[in-house]
Amino acid sequence: MANVKLTNVKKVYSNNVEVMRDINLDIKQGEFIVFVGPSGCGKSTLLRMISGLEEISSGTLEIDGQNVTDVPPSLRGVAMVFQSYALYPHMTVYDNMAFSLQIAKVNKKEVDAQVRRAAEMLQLTPFLDRLPKALSGGQRQRVAIGRAIVRRPKVFLFDEPLSNLDAALRVATRMEIANLKESMPDSTMIYVTHDQVEAMTLADRIVLLSAGNIEQVGSPLELYANP
Ligand code: ADP
Ligand code: ADP
Repeated sequence: MANVKLTNVKKVYSNNVEVMRDINLDIKQGEFIVFVGPSGCGKSTLLRMISGLEEISSGTLEIDGQNVTDVPPSLRGVAMVFQSYALYPHMTVYDNMAFSLQIAKVNKKEVDAQVRRAAEMLQLTPFLDRLPKALSGGQRQRVAIGRAIVRRPKVFLFDEPLSNLDAALRVATRMEIANLKESMPDSTMIYVTHDQVEAMTLADRIVLLSAGNIEQVGSPLELYANP
């Protein structure tokens, strides 16, 4: 539940490749922002810098009005959903979702309430006792989303969450994410994809990236409507 502000953000990898040139962007609380662009344009780098998994070379990142440029990932109030679900294979759906709260010593009743709330939102209640291997790809990705929800993050980060799914599951899971946006209107969501359809159906605002620069920013209508 927070705004996210990038000011003069640059990224140079150790091989001196400049992947982000000078990014300035103000993301409002509750906004669903989609970064779109071809493979290699730096979408994932940008998301990883917001999450803290990647250092910012220069510039500042603010979340909720606080400069978090040098704050570790666990203290930024963000939760990320990855392309590969990265579930714990030996844990049930329930335990996969509960784990981060359990190790943060949240009390059992609260953990249970959060897990069941997330499971309801994502229609995972019937599968809580299953292991990931007994789920479809779409269900697995919903567990990964559930794991993010229980953390009650200020900002959700999605890194191409549908890319590993087949076409039918991709549509169904995209609708789940659209529902999530409806049921959590105050949560800020930042989503990366190379798929224009995903961007158009999910975004309040689309940011078109190309070779480390912001090319255009606008609503789906503004960007893709025929002139
Ligand atoms: P996208 O997500 O749009 O496909 P990435 O952010 O993954 O783009 O990558 C942007 C550019 O940065 C690419 O040219 C990629 O090869 C390069 N890159 C990504 N990660 C690293 C790294 N750890 N070290 C050096 N270069 C990297
Ligand atoms: P802690 O509660 O001590 O942060 P976690 O297991 O929740 O322990 O997190 C360990 C690390 O992994 C932290 O840096 C945390 O931010 C990160 N992490 C765990 N789950 C996610 C997620 N879904 N999205 C982003 N980062 C995550």
